[in-house]
Amino acid sequence: MTAPAERAPSPTDLAPDARPPEVRAVLDGLLEHLLNGVAYCRMEYTDGQPSDFLFLYTNPAFHSQTGLADVCGKHISQIVPGLRQTDPALLEIFGRVARGGQPETFVMPVKSMAEWFSVSVYCPQPEHFVALFDVVTERKKAEAALEDRARQLRFVLEGSELGFWDWDIATGKVERNPQWGHMLGYTFDELQHTAQQWADFVHPNDRERAWASIFDVVEGRSTSHKLEYRMLHKDGSIRWILDQAKVMQRDEHGKATRMCGTHTDITERKLLEEELLRQAHVDYLTGVYNRRHFMERAEQELSRAHRYGSPLSMLMLDIDHFKQINDRYGHKVGDTVLKAVADLSHATFRDVDILGRLGGEEFAVLLPETDQPAALEAAERLRATIANARIPLPGAPPVSFSVSIGVSSMDSPEDNIDALLQRADKALYKAKDSGRNRVCGRDGKA
Ligand code: GH3
Ligand code: MG
Ligand code: MG
Repeated sequence: MTAPAERAPSPTDLAPDARPPEVRAVLDGLLEHLLNGVAYCRMEYTDGQPSDFLFLYTNPAFHSQTGLADVCGKHISQIVPGLRQTDPALLEIFGRVARGGQPETFVMPVKSMAEWFSVSVYCPQPEHFVALFDVVTERKKAEAALEDRARQLRFVLEGSELGFWDWDIATGKVERNPQWGHMLGYTFDELQHTAQQWADFVHPNDRERAWASIFDVVEGRSTSHKLEYRMLHKDGSIRWILDQAKVMQRDEHGKATRMCGTHTDITERKLLEEELLRQAHVDYLTGVYNRRHFMERAEQELSRAHRYGSPLSMLMLDIDHFKQINDRYGHKVGDTVLKAVADLSHATFRDVDILGRLGGEEFAVLLPETDQPAALEAAERLRATIANARIPLPGAPPVSFSVSIGVSSMDSPEDNIDALLQRADKALYKAKDSGRNRVCGRDGKA
């Protein structure tokens, strides 16, 4: 070991310096004021391996960065005794550079000092090195925390089965997680990661609505996009998606530059809702509208007819001697007859006609765009079809049945559904009175 130098030499002592004293003063001043720590050291080797180094010069920032004072003329083994064991890599790099190696730059934790260092080191003369460094522990902690957050986010996104999207609005590029594609039957590699691809996957009938909701947010008319719409699965089926998003970045003019959101597959919930709605509207036995929904739909048709001044007719239909059918063949066969009447009505009328079971063995049919003569004709067609229908019974002759039908038509702009039903009911009872299995209209005749 060499005895400590009497005076710690300045790096400007290193070579015969022809520079004027004011330049040397500026360089000294630079070292004094530099925010990076600087250490000039002489490396010592044992058996050819770097084993210790001696501090020849340190600037003030060395002290403020490391907390170590009065190190000049001392060995690192005196100042940080454990360094050789805990941080052999550091000694190795310094030793390599001091042997005349290339300058090196690295970021490394120094265990013995419990800090992260960012270091540039070079060799000014054989067996010496100058290290310029920054303590970057805080930055490293922030980076680690950020990585942690990113890992957490990935974990949440994957665990919750959400599709994630992050749209760079200027380029049209969209970053997505694998789940975004899996929901629609695509692997991650099959995705193009463009906004255009999203639009292509949205059901054509929902596309305009979906873009409108997104642009309301992009252009600042609303703060968040939350919309349920249909998307096309690779297998051709339809998936219902809940899309929720916000603008995450705007430029200095307030223009949206980045938008992020999530997709939730809500298909099962949607199908359940549709089924519940259907059940709420439909009579469970016959599959035609129940009384309440029939009335709702009839009111809509009535206002349309008023608006366009178009004709509208109502049929009221009652199964003849239905009590006898029940009594003779049993309730189950009675139910089959009810279903047959509903099915035959469906088959006879147009898709726009509205069919409802008002209760018991009584049905009503609303015929839009249909005047009295056309309604009587349609009713007569149905009556004949039903009279000719037979329900087979095991080991017995088939069951036949008939219906009586009353027909009413809209007379004036003041007419309403109740009045139409009342007049059809009156006509129906005329049909019953005159012998059943017949149709009666306004004047009591078919
Ligand atoms: P009319 O020719 O005068 O209409 O005689 P009807 O026997 O058809 O009339 P009535 O009103 O006396 O009898 C209706 C019967 O319909 C009585 C009731 O038990 C039966 N009914 C009502 N709802 C159902 C049902 O959901 N299933 C079955 N099987 N029968 C029903
Ligand atoms: Mg009845
Ligand atoms: Mg009846």
